[in-house]
Amino acid sequence: MPDPAGGTPPVCAVCGATPEDEVRARIAWTRGTEAGRDVWTCTACSREHLRSIEGKLDSAWW
Ligand SMILES: [Zn+2]
Repeated sequence: MPDPAGGTPPVCAVCGATPEDEVRARIAWTRGTEAGRDVWTCTACSREHLRSIEGKLDSAWW
């Protein structure tokens, strides 16, 4: 769905959830970058998959 503001609405890469409050999600959700595009993880999945997320931290983040 196109975003009038030009941003990409966050979609959880784990469970596919979309936030009701997009602005709040941009703050609360975990944001990563893969292959030059944003990868979002919702708060619930962030907690559940914290270890694997940390495991994926590499030079691409910096
Ligand atoms: Zn999720």
